[in-house]
Amino acid sequence: MDDCIFCKIAAHEIPSTIVYEDDKVVAFDDLNPQAPVHTLVIPKGHYENIVDGVPADVLEAMTHAIAEVAKIKGLDRGFRVIANTGASAGQTVMHFHMHVLGGKDLGEGLI
Ligand code: IMP
Repeated sequence: MDDCIFCKIAAHEIPSTIVYEDDKVVAFDDLNPQAPVHTLVIPKGHYENIVDGVPADVLEAMTHAIAEVAKIKGLDRGFRVIANTGASAGQTVMHFHMHVLGGKDLGEGLI
């Protein structure tokens, strides 16, 4: 998609701190981290959110990427994965992404 910032990151057209990448997904650090580790995992293809017909192989690649991020970032004590879906859930970038948050005790809250 022409105007999508995450498409541009996936295409390496704008800089990002890439943590993991394969043929289907990219994981990069969030610009505005909400925890010591805050990495975003995105599909290279453009899907608006998790319920926008994301193919099963892409979802599987994202799950694999989350595990790789956890390994690379040393999140052996646990981490949180969040996919804000729709504006009322706080989604601000309309390219499907999963937040991987960790590196501190996140407590019991949802966010
Ligand atoms: P959302 O609120 O779930 O849509 O999350 C979007 C996330 O993307 C936010 O945490 C932003 O800080 C992050 N973000 C926006 N633009 C960039 C960027 O260019 N690089 C890295 N992270 C970004």
